[in-house]
Amino acid sequence: MSSKPPLHAAHGPLAGPALSLPVSIAIEGKCCLLVGGCNQALLKARLLTKAGAILHVFAYAGVEQELLELTSHSGGTLNLFDPHVDLLDAVRKSQWLDSGILCVVALQDNSVATKIAAFCTEQKLLINVVDSPSLCSFTFPARVDRGSLQIAISSSSRVPVLSRFLRQKIEALLPFEYGALNELATEFTPIVAKALPDKQLRRRFWEAILDGPVAELVFSGRIKQAKTKLRRMLENHLDTSLEGEVFLVGAGPGDPELLTLKALRLMQLADVVLYDRLVSTEILELVRRDAKRVYVGKQRAEHSTSQEGINDLLLKHAIAGERVLRLKGGDPFIFGRGGEEIEHLAQHNINFQVVPGVTAASGCACYAGIPLTHRDHAQSVRFVTGHLKSGSPDLPWHEFVDAHQTLVFYMGLVGLPEISAKMIEHGRAPETPAALIQQGTTKKQRVVSGTLAGIAALAKQHKIQAPTITIVGSVVELREKLTWFTPNDQVE
Ligand code: SAH
Repeated sequence: MSSKPPLHAAHGPLAGPALSLPVSIAIEGKCCLLVGGCNQALLKARLLTKAGAILHVFAYAGVEQELLELTSHSGGTLNLFDPHVDLLDAVRKSQWLDSGILCVVALQDNSVATKIAAFCTEQKLLINVVDSPSLCSFTFPARVDRGSLQIAISSSSRVPVLSRFLRQKIEALLPFEYGALNELATEFTPIVAKALPDKQLRRRFWEAILDGPVAELVFSGRIKQAKTKLRRMLENHLDTSLEGEVFLVGAGPGDPELLTLKALRLMQLADVVLYDRLVSTEILELVRRDAKRVYVGKQRAEHSTSQEGINDLLLKHAIAGERVLRLKGGDPFIFGRGGEEIEHLAQHNINFQVVPGVTAASGCACYAGIPLTHRDHAQSVRFVTGHLKSGSPDLPWHEFVDAHQTLVFYMGLVGLPEISAKMIEHGRAPETPAALIQQGTTKKQRVVSGTLAGIAALAKQHKIQAPTITIVGSVVELREKLTWFTPNDQVE
């Protein structure tokens, strides 16, 4: 049905050193070794014992009372030595090596720490040496704790400060009672699983619980009412059947920050996503992780999935009860054939929502420092398709001659020589400023500007490629004054 997605949408390993894999390890009842008795060791002892580890500590005499208490409560041992004893030797001779699963080293002496790390690695223990990422086989991520709910943030040992900074931001965002919500959901998980054996129906039920009135009741401390409400909602849910829906969403021209809040929310709800070639990889990354992805990209002269094929696919998934995200570049109603897609859905009584997006003209113009209208330059702006149906231009050229009108051509790269020639032929001044913006709003944005007469040659000379829009009008001149606005793009 669909051809291979373009390279930019491939999901391969990132360039550069490999990333760490965040996992959460169940260490309850497992032996963990801790070497050192300083404050850092105490912090790690708190974390390990909170997760139920049996802690065996190797340190020099004179440790904090709290470390002693944590160790003994965990069912482990505190092994204290005189300063002349080699701690590596103590660890080597310890009887917990075989049953141990990990070792944390928090010592001032880096050479001893290095040796212990090497030894533990040989023994196949996971090893963490505080403040020495290169010696670690695992690290402790920055964490946001909400009771039994924990959020871990890892910078793959590159910039721990950044993880901590992010942690502060998340702390501020999440109500403290998320832990209580997790507890409540845990309590009801088996009940809900029994009542709603259908996986999708169950997921929707939980979504309604975790992002609705039940969650609000928990956040305001009314746990009992929350439970009553949950039971009532479960009863009501038993009679519902899965209803499919289509979200026709404009993804904007490329920069993920130009997504609307609504787009982002629906992207998180989708069971399946049908996306086209203009949707950037970064944006696709924001779709719910386990949503099925179907590439239905269209390219000039290579329609991998026909419009009828796309219409049928949307219908098929929606009839199967899925929430279908139709993600389109820019705005779905501007040269997006969005209208045709929902017409088809309406004919078949499928529910749908349409979410506007930032269209290429406004996104690219802003990021290139070109105001599309301006009191002194242009009182109107016109979006025109440059994709000429019969291959030859059949546009109302006489309407394009007004010097106070900005024109934006979409899909106009191939037809550019004819477009500029026809405009000049019908009376638009050859020296009218014109600009080409390729991959606007993305990190690869390129802008080339010149005159209407010379723009086609410039496109060829600079090997401009799709997706590109062409802006024609005196507003293009303003770009020089406004380039401060466009720090990233390559100006040519
Ligand atoms: N619905 C889209 C337009 C789809 S038509 C929207 O509202 O933006 C496809 C054309 O849009 C491309 O040929 C190109 O002319 C333009 N386009 C889309 N994204 C672009 C981008 N990031 N930079 C430059 N042009 C873009």
